[in-house]
Amino acid sequence: MPPSAAHQATGRSETGDPLLLTPGPLTTSKSVKQAMVHDWGSRDAAFVALNREVMERLPEIVHGEGRYVTVPMQGSGTFAVEAMLTTFTPKDGLVLVLVNGAYGQRAKRILDIAGRRAIVHETPEDTPPDLAAVDRILAEAPEISHVFAVHCETTSGILNPIDDVAAIVARRGRRLLVDAMSAFGALPLDSRKSPFDAVAASANKCLEGVPGLGFVVCRREALAQTEGRATTLTLDLFDQNRNFEKTGQFRFTPPIHVIVAFHQALEEFWAEGGVAGRGGRYAGNARVLIEGMRALGFETLLSDALQAPIIATFHMPRHPRFVFQRFYDSLKARGYVIYPGKLTVADSFRIGCIGRLGADHMRGALEAVRETLAEMDVDLSRAAAASGAASDHGRGRPAGSR
Ligand SMILES: *Cc1c(COP(=O)(O)O)cnc(C)c1O
Repeated sequence: MPPSAAHQATGRSETGDPLLLTPGPLTTSKSVKQAMVHDWGSRDAAFVALNREVMERLPEIVHGEGRYVTVPMQGSGTFAVEAMLTTFTPKDGLVLVLVNGAYGQRAKRILDIAGRRAIVHETPEDTPPDLAAVDRILAEAPEISHVFAVHCETTSGILNPIDDVAAIVARRGRRLLVDAMSAFGALPLDSRKSPFDAVAASANKCLEGVPGLGFVVCRREALAQTEGRATTLTLDLFDQNRNFEKTGQFRFTPPIHVIVAFHQALEEFWAEGGVAGRGGRYAGNARVLIEGMRALGFETLLSDALQAPIIATFHMPRHPRFVFQRFYDSLKARGYVIYPGKLTVADSFRIGCIGRLGADHMRGALEAVRETLAEMDVDLSRAAAASGAASDHGRGRPAGSR
């Protein structure tokens, strides 16, 4: 593909910054960043009203209007996940944690630290949970009160079968807690068809806000049962929500500028057509990226059926002149920031498709990859053909991880 004005291998956001092809924080619009240039008092009526608007519309994304309430939580996404797990699970409960990557493991760690009993159903990072096994575990252990699942496991970019999991959990009469951090707003999750007690997400992934705020969309009836369960004061969603009901305000200093930016980001989200519009753009980005990378000789970790249009994992090429650090630095110099791999099943790197990016940005990134390979004198399409293509990739520690 010849470089053209639209496909320049020089990435630039609207504010002239390198483009973040990462799973968050990610490239945001200029208007979202500009929303942060004012100061607001946290008890100011205008801020309280704006915050209420942000919270009121989030349950619509999971079709939970009326039945669900948003409880925001200061901090990164993990703060929201920890708040969800420690507020909803009772002391005498037992949690089944579905693990196929770092975020499932993190949930297990949160539960361990909080002194909550948890058991794990783990599959490799490129493999969804075994639904029959999950069903069997629930049947055999009636003391399991909650199941925790990750919607898109960002470690690999795998799309977990959240609707099937929800159906099994509901049929077995248990409660589902979802980490949808990297999916919320782009991949459909319908609380009417796939019931859950709570879903945790953050401002700075598919909703394209800036980092500093997580939130948990909670089923009102389930949240009402959680009084006194929390293991910390700050992460107590019951208390946080009760204070909102009483005063409309956060208990402790809110990340005001982040919330004002999030309000603007949500305006842009709804203007784009909500989940269908946002998810559609990301799906286009993923298609351009993955087809382009395959044409250059790279191989994806996941088959297309398992790949969420959020972040793609590529096997590290086994070419003697391919040096990941050089590859990374050269893309960065051209304005494209990619993401090292974090997998145990394969040496890999990742490229994200989310944020204020379109197909032309992805074509620009591909052009930068092409230029970089040429600079390194690496021709992967020839190497793959010569070695018989889909060779098995070595297991071991990802060289690019840091
Ligand atoms: C990003 C992410 C989180 C939260 O990570 P933070 O660094 O705390 O924002 C949690 N779960 C998943 C699946 C994620 O992608």
